[in-house]
Amino acid sequence: MAVKSDAFVFFGATGDLAYKQIFPALQDMIRHEHFDLPIIGVARSDWDLERLRERARASVREHGGLEKHACEKLCRLLQFVNGDYNDPGTFARLRKQLGKAKHPLHYLAIPPSMFETVVKGLDASGCADGARVVVEKPFGRDLKSAHALNRTLHRIFPEDAIFRIDHYLGKEAVQNLLYFRFANTFLEPVWNRTYIENVQITMAEAFGVQGRGSFYEEVGALRDVIQNHMLQVLVLLAMDAPTGRDAESVRSEKLRLLRAIRPLDPEEVVRGQFAGYRSEPGVARNSQMETFAALRLHIDTWRWAGVPFYIRAGKEMPVTCTEVLVTLKRPPLAVFDHVKREDANFFRFRLSPDVVISAGARVKKPGEAMRGEEVELVARSQPRRVRPPYSRLLGDALRGDAELFGRDDSIEAAWRIIDPALNDAEKVSTYKPRTWGPAAAARLTAGDGGWKDPVVAKPKTRTSKK
Ligand code: NDP
Repeated sequence: MAVKSDAFVFFGATGDLAYKQIFPALQDMIRHEHFDLPIIGVARSDWDLERLRERARASVREHGGLEKHACEKLCRLLQFVNGDYNDPGTFARLRKQLGKAKHPLHYLAIPPSMFETVVKGLDASGCADGARVVVEKPFGRDLKSAHALNRTLHRIFPEDAIFRIDHYLGKEAVQNLLYFRFANTFLEPVWNRTYIENVQITMAEAFGVQGRGSFYEEVGALRDVIQNHMLQVLVLLAMDAPTGRDAESVRSEKLRLLRAIRPLDPEEVVRGQFAGYRSEPGVARNSQMETFAALRLHIDTWRWAGVPFYIRAGKEMPVTCTEVLVTLKRPPLAVFDHVKREDANFFRFRLSPDVVISAGARVKKPGEAMRGEEVELVARSQPRRVRPPYSRLLGDALRGDAELFGRDDSIEAAWRIIDPALNDAEKVSTYKPRTWGPAAAARLTAGDGGWKDPVVAKPKTRTSKK
């Protein structure tokens, strides 16, 4: 049994991620899992503990809702270490603050450029002894830098103490992809090149960079969401069943699949940028960074040879939605009415904003004619999120359960796929905000009937009766 961590340290306590995700996750863990460890926030800003507590209260109020008792306990457990990460004194103060804790978990919710400085500081101060480390995404900027970062981390932490977080893997809907595939027998016989025509994964955001232009300018859609979130979803859709229930069996099967994906051919990638992006603060006036990317991937296995996997992700899209559509081949003969390509059977996995697992089928329309219509058989339909994914993942990391975290080899395998598209000299194509990206993206799916745009029902607005 892995030893449990006995303190939770998070670097970047004053940052955006801490505000949006970490405080709400901690409150959730206190509420549901009797979380009772010292929580030490570290940051450079000249704050005091009371200010950090105020920040925690504001965070949970805005993101998920304040739970009075849990939030009070969160504030009681909270401690603050103030200092620059380049200053050894910061780590000396942290070591002192850790007191008797022997197995702290250090969460690096900081800019990736600071990862190396912080792990070295942890090492030199003794804070790394017996500790675990959680590293935020993006893990590296490309294959070379990811490899270098792995080497740096390995000099200080053993692989089983390193938790590379991708919060997508903690989402209930993403977990259900794996469960649904391997807890049912009816899917497996059709889950291959004989029955599946193509797979599309769309991650659409109906908003821009939300004031984080300088961050986005360094990253872009390929690094921000495709190398990690989207490839992870693809892996769960396409991997073979693990041979054991332990974390390493699952992670090894994921790696096998990643290694079977052909590195991207730049001809099969379309990069776009929404009009107006270059006027965002922190963005270069001649920026070539993509806010949209569409790609076609190929998996060289007996199961998937010849089945195109399409991924697209973009900002300023018409809706906010992440959805997978697995389209099956049409019946080989038209016994009744001819089934058009767009009317073929399908499986839909909607991952957000709501959670849906469904299958598209055809039934006869009432009447004399043998004509059909499409129905959607819904296996799961959940309104919104259940528990925050960060609370699930941080709980796992504190227990030393690494199944939902990226392993060194699979992170590098994912970069190997994306790398050829990163240095593409081709200029980005501009697209109008609130459209489905540049027109050029259509050429990728043209042979497969085009992109299937997710349709999101508008939330019902209540009109109050006077
Ligand atoms: P922010 O820029 O909002 O916050 C960065 C934090 O790091 C601040 O607390 C800042 O402290 C601290 N910091 C930076 N440099 C130093 C230094 N030299 N010494 C001490 N403290 C320092 O970043 P985010 O919170 O947005 O992102 C953090 C990480 O999480 C990144 O790796 C990002 O890619 C990842 N991430 C973020 C998401 C988000 O929604 N924000 C989503 C997914 C991943 P101070 O302000 O006091 O200077």
